[in-house]
Amino acid sequence: MGHAALETLQGFLVGLDARMKRAHKRGRVAHYIPQLASVDVHQFGISVCLASGERLSAGDAATPFSIQSISKVFSLAIALGRHGDRLWKRVGKEPSNYTFNSVIELEQEGGKPRNPFVNAGALVTTDAMLDAPDAGCGLDELMDFVRTAAGDDRISIDEQVAASEYRTAYRNFSLAYFLRSCGNLHMECERLLQIYCRQCAITMNCEQLASAGRFLAGFDSAAHLLNPAQARSINALMLLAGHYDGSGDFAYSVGFPGKSGVGGGILAVVPGHASIAVWSPGLNAFGNSLLGTRALQELSEFTGWSVF
Ligand code: GLU
Repeated sequence: MGHAALETLQGFLVGLDARMKRAHKRGRVAHYIPQLASVDVHQFGISVCLASGERLSAGDAATPFSIQSISKVFSLAIALGRHGDRLWKRVGKEPSNYTFNSVIELEQEGGKPRNPFVNAGALVTTDAMLDAPDAGCGLDELMDFVRTAAGDDRISIDEQVAASEYRTAYRNFSLAYFLRSCGNLHMECERLLQIYCRQCAITMNCEQLASAGRFLAGFDSAAHLLNPAQARSINALMLLAGHYDGSGDFAYSVGFPGKSGVGGGILAVVPGHASIAVWSPGLNAFGNSLLGTRALQELSEFTGWSVF
């Protein structure tokens, strides 16, 4: 991108931040995880990493937040890299029209979750990520992956958020016990849930998260993390299921893949062009960042970025 185009994009991001900061309708912060319920809803940040290597940011792009379900993208990358297509025997590749932590769908489908991004599918993916002789017994490999992808060794886990979620993870426990009863979890549920809650409690800011998404955007500098065909598959799943039962609306209005988390973050990918992280803690009815989604829609309209 030339110098003038970069300046124009930076100006747009600054204006976008100002508009989002003024917005009255901001959504509701997640209440079912006690530590997230106290986050200030008035924050907004965005960061964009371009194929040319530049990074542009605006707003609270350096403020750390809980990435929550965005972590499912990284655990999927490791599990897919390790098991390849065998992973799809345990978890599907189809969108779901139930909420992200639905129990009913799992029972109807005999214990095979619809996709790796609904909670049941993420539990299976984390189980698969750890299911190898050299996998170690915790999140060391995942943390290495995220730190390498972001090029930042300071990324860490907020243990208070993890403990707070674990204490109230009744719904995820019920999914895990059901999966285990179907033979689709190898690890003990308590151990798996401890690891899953810590994975979701990885804390990053928009700048770090946008950098960490470069391996999905197909930038040469990040190609060693995952083979390009597998990165493309993850993008396809993000487009179909990255926003839960709001994925169709996101694909329609934004036009490129994204994965949201209940901490209010979204990692979005414009293959060949950009890796984008946006954060605003208020959520819409589907559990996706309300202003984050709106900001990505405006960015997509401004730049013409779309996979269609
Ligand atoms: N840790 C959250 C849960 O499992 C993640 C959900 C999300 O971010 O969408 O409920």
